[in-house]
Amino acid sequence: MAEFDYLIVGAGLFGATFAHLARKAGKKCLVIDRRNHIGGNTFCENQGGINVHVYGAHIFHTNDKPIWDFVNSFTEFNRYTNSPVALHEGKLYNLPFNMNTFYQLWGVTTPEQAQAKIAEQIASLNITEPQNLEEQALTLVGTDIYEKLIKGYTEKQWGRKATELPAFIIKRLPVRFTFDNNYFNDKYQGIPIGGYNKITEGMLEGTEVRLDTDYFSDRAYFDGLADRVVFTGPLDEFYNFQFGELEYRSLRFEHETHEVENYQGNAVVNYTEAHVPFTRIIEHKHFEFGKQPHTIITREYPDTWTKGKEAYYPINDEENTRRMKQYQELAAQETNVLFGGRLAEYRYYDMHQVIGSAFVKAKQELGVDLVQS
Ligand code: FAD
Repeated sequence: MAEFDYLIVGAGLFGATFAHLARKAGKKCLVIDRRNHIGGNTFCENQGGINVHVYGAHIFHTNDKPIWDFVNSFTEFNRYTNSPVALHEGKLYNLPFNMNTFYQLWGVTTPEQAQAKIAEQIASLNITEPQNLEEQALTLVGTDIYEKLIKGYTEKQWGRKATELPAFIIKRLPVRFTFDNNYFNDKYQGIPIGGYNKITEGMLEGTEVRLDTDYFSDRAYFDGLADRVVFTGPLDEFYNFQFGELEYRSLRFEHETHEVENYQGNAVVNYTEAHVPFTRIIEHKHFEFGKQPHTIITREYPDTWTKGKEAYYPINDEENTRRMKQYQELAAQETNVLFGGRLAEYRYYDMHQVIGSAFVKAKQELGVDLVQS
């Protein structure tokens, strides 16, 4: 008999949620992570009372009450509402595109005027079948919003011209004809009081965790420790990249401390001009309404991904989708391994989605629903 029921590779939200539910089901788990901390990409580093979102700004939002109750059972959430602003040629615009933005762009004051302005710009385009992202965006929101608020940001994000990007990347662009700067439509939203680490620490309480521990450093040894494996690392690496690498877009973060109380007046400011190399500046203290005399900001630069860099956004183009299918066929044959999370499934998940997915997989695996109990 192995020492543990489950070896869980990865202490991110998927691994931690699964570990929590398995422990509730009376299972003995060992969680390993190759990083020197738990929490995966939600990890925050406390610097002088400010929780710095080390792997990019994270805002929790969901419509799902059981998921909201679950995360709130580890720590209460504050009432932070994400309302980013975009800076373009010295002017600020509210996001998401709403009546405030339309007033700032055109001076219009009623929904009817704003709708007419957008319709007039779309009608003048003469695009029937959008061939690329640029044409797709133009037909959805017209020229001004596209040129000022979408083009530069998107090209920086993907490292390619919008005319060279496929139209399907932008399926729809939410436009609101109300004065509402709340970025998300979800019923529940906020930041955990005390930071995200409180959540993953709570989930992993009572479970053995080994950090700085890479599953691939001694796979046979780790497999021997447990009856079953929950793997949340990259699926291509699990199969030794035999069909080639699954590609990602990466990010580079530049953190800076400023001896001022308030640097930009908002947690998130997007920089939508092409000549500014970063896409946004995050001022972390605003997520938690911090009152410290200093502040910490992070400039976020989109980056090409190569092995060794952090993998952030999967590039779900044809070639990567084909490779992923090959890996999935192998994964489907495993009888002792359960795959879950953003890296093993090679898909972008929001936090509530990855927790929801862990709920489903844990219920299937453990045979009981332990979320509410
Ligand atoms: P991860 O958090 O990546 O955890 C996987 C863990 O596995 C890692 O800690 C890794 O070190 C470990 N691991 C991998 N391989 C091995 C190995 N061989 N051995 C040991 N350990 C291993 N979601 C939101 O809801 N709101 C947001 O505002 C938001 N902002 C985001 C901003 C950015 C820039 C990004 C990239 C994502 C954002 N997300 C946001 C999504 C959120 O980060 C993910 O949903 C969540 O982190 C996924 O959790 P996970 O457990 O699947 O993966």
